[in-house]
Amino acid sequence: MTAIRVDVATLLRAGHSDAAIARELHTAAKGVARARAALGLPKARPGKQPAATAADLFRTRVAQCDDGHLQWAGARQPGGCPVLRHAGRLHTAHRIAWTLARKRPPVGHVRAGCGRSDCVEPAHLEDAEDRARYRAIFGTALTGQTARPCSRMKESA
Ligand SMILES: [Zn+2]
Repeated sequence: MTAIRVDVATLLRAGHSDAAIARELHTAAKGVARARAALGLPKARPGKQPAATAADLFRTRVAQCDDGHLQWAGARQPGGCPVLRHAGRLHTAHRIAWTLARKRPPVGHVRAGCGRSDCVEPAHLEDAEDRARYRAIFGTALTGQTARPCSRMKESA
């Protein structure tokens, strides 16, 4: 068995073509093709490559605001809920953003807690567990300030 360079294997798995990898890593395309065959990966498809992960796709659909919020510039559900489709699955942008900032999976709906329901800044998000904690500390005075969840979409863990 031949040794396969880690950087070549990484780019192959990310869906890049043999020629693009050879250009990027200053190596021979024939060697990249041999590594592709050894890994059992299909030839890269021409055209725009799909995002490797939903998080990668998320990063291409946001715009940083001057005031620290992150504006969603992608698709929305009819109710206004920011969404993106990756690998045939529909995800809420809030849930994808959550995974960028938090270590634990979200509980219940993920919403912007900053008062701007369309904000997808990971640091501004809260889930049901956060809201319960805030209620325990501050009482119900703050509950009217949070954005309502998208009622047309069920979120899954
Ligand atoms: Zn915000």
